Amino acid sequence: MFQKLNIIDPILKALKDEGYVNPTPIQEQSIPVILEGNDFEGCAQTGTGKTAAFAIPILQLIYSKQGAQNGSSDIQALVLAPTRELAIQIGENFTSYGKYTKIKNTVIFGGVSQKPQTDALMAGVDILIATPGRLLDLVQQKYANLQHIKFLVLDEADRMLDMGMGQDVKRIIAKLPKDRQTMVFSATMPQKILKLIDSILIKPVKVEVTPVSSTIDTINQAVYFVQKRNKKSLLIHLLKDESFESVLVFSRTKHGANKITGDLVKAGIEAQAIHGNKSQNARQLALSNFKEKKIRVLVATDIAARGIDVEKVSHVINFDLPDVPETYVHRIGRTGRAGSDGVALSFCDREEKQLLTDIEKVISKSIPVIKDHPYAMGNSNMVVSSSDIVKNKDVKKKVSDGKSRKSSYFRRNRKRS
Ligand code: AMP
Repeated sequence: MFQKLNIIDPILKALKDEGYVNPTPIQEQSIPVILEGNDFEGCAQTGTGKTAAFAIPILQLIYSKQGAQNGSSDIQALVLAPTRELAIQIGENFTSYGKYTKIKNTVIFGGVSQKPQTDALMAGVDILIATPGRLLDLVQQKYANLQHIKFLVLDEADRMLDMGMGQDVKRIIAKLPKDRQTMVFSATMPQKILKLIDSILIKPVKVEVTPVSSTIDTINQAVYFVQKRNKKSLLIHLLKDESFESVLVFSRTKHGANKITGDLVKAGIEAQAIHGNKSQNARQLALSNFKEKKIRVLVATDIAARGIDVEKVSHVINFDLPDVPETYVHRIGRTGRAGSDGVALSFCDREEKQLLTDIEKVISKSIPVIKDHPYAMGNSNMVVSSSDIVKNKDVKKKVSDGKSRKSSYFRRNRKRS
């Protein structure tokens, strides 16, 4: 129960409106220690409720100080996020949880006109959510003053560094007051993140929820071995099944995402693409069409999909396997959210087999193979029935059966090569 975490009434009321009953594990562990003023290091990915884990205590700390007054004109909290979509979502969450407080937030990101953003900054905000590049721009133009920041959150820190934002993040941190409370959230904790954490956090409380391999336990995963040229036909074939209600398809490249979308539309399947080359408006429109179920399929690249929070994606389909195994975990985390089951299907062509092996190492389990499809490559064992997985029946048992058979497939395969 949220009441047990000493959350103040205006926020409790908003959480009730959201339909939240119990805190998630990361919230249970972060809210009290952040309220006590500790720095915080959270190893958690999107889908664990990590946004509320920092947003609730920050709202409460600001509220406790300024009471029900209108916000001050100083920015008190800064949240840095890697993508515009994630920044927007964080802003929406602050707005929802803070709706009975007068605490104001605004979101700034690149790729769109800065005027509405500078107007909002000039009107005064308490909480600023930003992508690093645009923020630095606006700081340099003196629209954003970071000298009164008391709370700093780096969200999806690993992704910010992966996306080459490390320098910008450091430049921003150098402009902040030393006397502040800092929280870092990251899905993975590679060496470079630990180094960053070491340099900016003071005696942090560390919380790790759902280690990478276990977050995905509620997701039914399967792989199809298919030749590259047949992937498109396999996708169209799968999408004939209406139980694929809302499907997020991942493509490694922007060009690929456009091509897949075009092919689906030609086949009469409503689909839109979301990637970095699209204008911000086009991306938001595709996302809201998908959220409102106006389109069934959203085709995304990894960067664009980062942080996308759609209530219930029934299926994630990896049209291409990602080069970085952790990305697989991020991708499939889009389905099976907040405890609900989901399905993640991956297409693997001959050249991607090593990537699949790397992924299986990271998630510490074998992904069952579906062979009974019209575009099978012909040399794999049949492990589970496709209808069970794609219709999201409980295949956990079969999945565990699949483990031994799957590994024998790989043993055979290795011998041959
Ligand atoms: P996040 O990991 O912050 O992206 O949150 C994932 C999803 O869980 C979002 O749709 C949130 O609205 C939802 N959520 C967060 N906290 C709770 C909670 N305590 N109870 C139910 N849903 C939640």
